Amino acid sequence: MINLDSPIEILSKVGKTTAQRLQKLGLKTAKDLLFYFPFRHEDWSNVISVAKLSYGTVATCRARVELIKNTRSFFKRKNITEALVSDNSGSIKVVWFNQPYLAKTLKIGDEIFLSGKVDLDRFGLHLTSPSYEKINREGETTHTARIVPIYSVTENLTEKQIRFLVKLIIPLAEKIEDWLPKNIKAKFNLVDLKDALGQIHFPDNKFKLESAKRRLKFDELFLVQLRNTLVKINLLKTKAPVINFYEEETKKFVSSLPFQLTDAQRKAAWEILQDLENNHPMNRLLEGDVGSGKTIVAAIAVLNVILNGKKAIVMVPTEILAGQHFKSFCKLFDKLNIKIGLLTRSNKMMNYEIGILAHDGEEKKLDLKFIINNSQLIIGTHALIQEGMEFNNLGLAIVDEQHRFGVGQRMAIHNKKEGISPHFLSMTATPIPRTMSLIFYGDLDLSIIDEMPVGRKKIFTKIVSHEKRHLAYDFVKQEIKKGRQIFIICPLIDPSDKLGVKSVKDEFEVLQKEIFPELSIGILHGKMKSAEKEEVMKNFLENKINILVSTSVIEVGIDVPNATIMIIEGAERFGLAQLHQFRGRVGRSGNQSFCLLFSGGEGSETMERLEALVNCNDGFALAEKDLTLRGPGEVWGTRQSGVLELKIASLADCKIAKEAKEAAEEIIKKDPELENFPDLKEKLSEFERDVHLE
Ligand code: ADP
Ligand code: MG
Repeated sequence: MINLDSPIEILSKVGKTTAQRLQKLGLKTAKDLLFYFPFRHEDWSNVISVAKLSYGTVATCRARVELIKNTRSFFKRKNITEALVSDNSGSIKVVWFNQPYLAKTLKIGDEIFLSGKVDLDRFGLHLTSPSYEKINREGETTHTARIVPIYSVTENLTEKQIRFLVKLIIPLAEKIEDWLPKNIKAKFNLVDLKDALGQIHFPDNKFKLESAKRRLKFDELFLVQLRNTLVKINLLKTKAPVINFYEEETKKFVSSLPFQLTDAQRKAAWEILQDLENNHPMNRLLEGDVGSGKTIVAAIAVLNVILNGKKAIVMVPTEILAGQHFKSFCKLFDKLNIKIGLLTRSNKMMNYEIGILAHDGEEKKLDLKFIINNSQLIIGTHALIQEGMEFNNLGLAIVDEQHRFGVGQRMAIHNKKEGISPHFLSMTATPIPRTMSLIFYGDLDLSIIDEMPVGRKKIFTKIVSHEKRHLAYDFVKQEIKKGRQIFIICPLIDPSDKLGVKSVKDEFEVLQKEIFPELSIGILHGKMKSAEKEEVMKNFLENKINILVSTSVIEVGIDVPNATIMIIEGAERFGLAQLHQFRGRVGRSGNQSFCLLFSGGEGSETMERLEALVNCNDGFALAEKDLTLRGPGEVWGTRQSGVLELKIASLADCKIAKEAKEAAEEIIKKDPELENFPDLKEKLSEFERDVHLE
């Protein structure tokens, strides 16, 4: 007997290797399969007669195999299986590639369903690589003649295999407890979970498919909202140090800056300072385009924390960035006699050895404990908090370039001895439209810097065709003669057999040997040791390197004002938001800057995306564009982006998210501890584990 917890190996036709392949998709038990939702469906439910098949359509017919044989293609060693099938209305040729076993599986006289594309060549119409399925006694189909689920598969697994297995375990859906409270189901018109689970895989019709999707999306979003609501309530119960606003000192600091704050910066700083005055932790996201000046806003908050006799930490994704932030803060607080520490991981793992304490312009190498105990502001990588460090007297924790700060991370900094939690500020340049943030980052308050400092020159952006590559290089030489520096971004680190995709190592060789032998070229990528990376960045900052060839490691926050050209190789391989971030690395001084895009693909979608970058300088607008062109999954689907990894719901499901929010708030209002909803409570912790929210 198969049950929900049965290991996948005991299912029919699952051998050891298949089981391993399934495991790679995270599928270990029957239940996992049940919750492995298709990412889309093909509607092949409309079965038509052979005579009605028309060129260019995707269609399904029911026919008899008249002839079937294997041949070899003339040019390549491609195996072709050709068949002739017919029904009462007529006959049609069918072609499959590289599936020679088909000539054995399908026999003359077999009645089959075929679903696929109708093509035309000089011999007439034919079906190209259609899905096929023999007609069984019950007339029940899995792969054709119905709405068919399409699953994402890895190499060596086929959709057919997954469909077959899912079909086996679908009856188990009956055993799944529906954890969603009845009144919520009724109020929002949601189908039962077991029905939704059956229909999401093998829907009876479009309507039932939509209802199933709606229910399953609602489930995810409801859990997200429930969690957000709970986090908010929890924060209200948590104590944080009150940070009073030192108005005079703040004004003095702001007026000492070489520029005026933008209104957006003022507003953001004001929102943060207000939060800091509360005796429970701030939990705020500061969003602002590359170069919009988030650092100074953070500095204002840090200053007030320090004036209140508390410490602040700033965490960033890379060591290079930590180094730069350290320098910026030292400069900003130059006259203020503030002790700033820099903690980065030395080459030995898990061990901070390089520490610098800056005080009165003095920099000394000191040990870790000393730095932590003596610095008023500590700057380091995100790893700072992952290793259970104790920061006494902490008032504010800032995370740069990462929008989400998990509950677990928060707890790591929560000082158990003192029983209080610091305030939290996340900063990100990834633009997420406000409506979406409100729904998907419901646990965070939001400040947006939506204007750039005045006087910034627009970065001139151009798509360069391959014939003009040499002109681009000539231009690079001119700029370097003027003393400027150049970034070149490549998609890969190592040369790959994927034709045409540039790698940092290849590009470095070619540039150094053939194109710019007289120039100094540096190389930077994620596989290098931190010390090496630091060295290269330092040399680049000091203009000892003219051209820096790098992977996307430089994407976040690096500041080399003297760099004026950003060249991006394989630009089609990056998302718009990311390209915009790369571009933001130049144009950081008064000099006119340039962004040159080389693309390996020339498809219309690629060109449309790159054109958008050429024509638009606004990160938010580009993010929206990316969203419409590529969909939310592509744009924000990855874990690094800090957006929740949802299985079925996406940022596009704003309407359902709103309903889910309403439902979550209603439940929490009545029963904040979820005492009357044990199933729901259980489900919530399972969910938090699955989407890595802790
Ligand atoms: P980001 O938001 O990308 O982190 P930064 O904080 O690094 O941006 O600021 C980018 C640059 O703009 C810095 O050199 C900073 O000194 C400068 N800057 C910040 N605010 C202003 C302003 N209001 N006017 C002019 N320059 C500013
Ligand atoms: Mg920044």
